[in-house]
Amino acid sequence: MQPSSWMNADLHCHSCVSDGTLTPEALAQRAKERGVELWALTDHDEIGGQQRAQEAALALGLAYLTGTEISVSFCGQTVHIVGLGFDADNAALAHGLAATRGGRRERALEMAEGLAQAGIHGSFEGALKYVGNPELISRTHFARYLVETGVCADTSEVFRRFLTEGKPGFVPHRWASLRDAVRWIDDAGGLAVIAHPARYRFTANEEHALFSEFKAHGGRGVEVVTGSHSAAEALRYAEVAQEYGLAASRGSDFHSPDESHTDLGALPELPSQLTPVWELLKNRIQQPR
Ligand code: AMP
Ligand code: MN
Ligand code: MN
Ligand code: MN
Repeated sequence: MQPSSWMNADLHCHSCVSDGTLTPEALAQRAKERGVELWALTDHDEIGGQQRAQEAALALGLAYLTGTEISVSFCGQTVHIVGLGFDADNAALAHGLAATRGGRRERALEMAEGLAQAGIHGSFEGALKYVGNPELISRTHFARYLVETGVCADTSEVFRRFLTEGKPGFVPHRWASLRDAVRWIDDAGGLAVIAHPARYRFTANEEHALFSEFKAHGGRGVEVVTGSHSAAEALRYAEVAQEYGLAASRGSDFHSPDESHTDLGALPELPSQLTPVWELLKNRIQQPR
């Protein structure tokens, strides 16, 4: 399989190694069944599932790119930077991700305290039941527990009422810097991508700072088509990609069959005027034999 400008690439999703519910193997199977031709598993701040994902993909005849999604603090918000096609054995990247993950447990304990003050008890232990990787306790795991106990009807309601800025279970956290995240990926031979840009609440100046600093640090891509963009948002970020000279990525951000609206591979095409990230990553794609 040679990468072409149109292909069903899905370069963003999560397994139980971060806050998804499926194993890397089950995701590979699902991606294959849903027509994905080039796949990347991008767990939050973790590459512990990469070998399993790659082996499962290649065994199914599915081309694979290594992936991760790094949490970054920028202008008072959390920005996600997806890394693709890096060397998963790179030591500096592994150290950087471990440092970024560190502190999630303490943060989770503080979140549970905040929730207890709002009358919701036992949420740390409750969230842990959903955690597949003890180093990776995420707000998503708390959300699943609050749905299980009937406090909220679904995870979006949990985030709205309890887990976002100003709400009882929200604990501000210092993640990686933009510069470090982009460099870890770049120095490991990969390509850094700004994830789901329409999700942030930046002013025009802050957004300009994000894109220009990202480029200056060596960032080369932006997600244009993702499960969290509307058609209008995809068009807007297609223009932004051209304005900043960035390649375009495409990924569902699939987490769970019960929670995600966009399934693996079920995305619109990238607008045709853009350079897909996989054209810049031809040499990094693992091909099935
Ligand atoms: P954390 O890295 O622990 O701050 O958790 C971030 C994760 O929470 C994201 O990767 C999403 O999976 C999930 N998330 C964030 N906002 C929402 C939302 N409004 N509704 C559902 N899930 C969300
Ligand atoms: Mn997530
Ligand atoms: Mn994200
Ligand atoms: Mn994601």
